[in-house]
Amino acid sequence: MAKVRGGHPAPADAEARRSVAAVICYPSESLPQPDLVAYRAAREGWTKVDVVTMPPRDARSFTVPAGHFFRILSVEGPQVGDLNLWSASDRDERFFSGKTRALHGTHLSTGDRLWSCLLHLRPMATIIEDTLDWYGVDRWGGSVHDVIGTRCDPYTHRLLSGGDYHHCCHSNLTRALARHLDCPLDVAEPMVHDVLNVFMCTGFTRDTGQYFMKASPVRPGDFLEFFAEIDLLGALSACPGGDCSAEHSSDKATCHPIVVEVYRPQSPPRGWASPPRNGYDGGHGA
Ligand SMILES: [Zn+2]
Repeated sequence: MAKVRGGHPAPADAEARRSVAAVICYPSESLPQPDLVAYRAAREGWTKVDVVTMPPRDARSFTVPAGHFFRILSVEGPQVGDLNLWSASDRDERFFSGKTRALHGTHLSTGDRLWSCLLHLRPMATIIEDTLDWYGVDRWGGSVHDVIGTRCDPYTHRLLSGGDYHHCCHSNLTRALARHLDCPLDVAEPMVHDVLNVFMCTGFTRDTGQYFMKASPVRPGDFLEFFAEIDLLGALSACPGGDCSAEHSSDKATCHPIVVEVYRPQSPPRGWASPPRNGYDGGHGA
């Protein structure tokens, strides 16, 4: 059935209204800028302290102390990953995909930060290297590592197809978190949140504004590398969509593992200090 939309006549000044110049909502120049030179220098002589492999169509948790680095690495074949982050000491502080999108744009790369949710709103991690930064924005408006999708989940799948599928990223992340916390699934599930879609290539169609995906350009050896600004608990799901060239929420796509490596530097980056919680006093004008 066609969408019922439109039907209202354009006013005489429609073009003038459409021609109004756009204003960037959150000019990112006003954000404190990460010192990427200092971050990268701190990698010299670092030690790999942990390696966690996400099996295809499944997720695993990992922890990264503040001041350490972690790298999400493509191995074996093109594969998209759905990333969740929490403060290791307070799971109420979690990654805020929406505000990260508002601050940095629809797709993240080097120098962008993953911000935590309100009441905290501080950088959780800073991206310090992205081997897919050459991709840029393609002719359909597609780009890599988005904060626009949410995560594939069995509820939406049921809504659209009527069936149940248990290896969506939402379920994979729920099982991984429940295992880490040694808690029931229904305790872990509400802590799962909107993700960073690592390696996924996405955009919005220009004509209908719909969310699209296309085959990820990622190849084995590509990685996205982060610096942990606070003590982190992470979970990463190897999406059942594989490279997300055709469909997700099924067992049809070819899937591969993804690896997370954690590195301890010899000393923290020069001048770095773990950021405090946001300074707003919570008065709300009452
Ligand atoms: Zn997924």
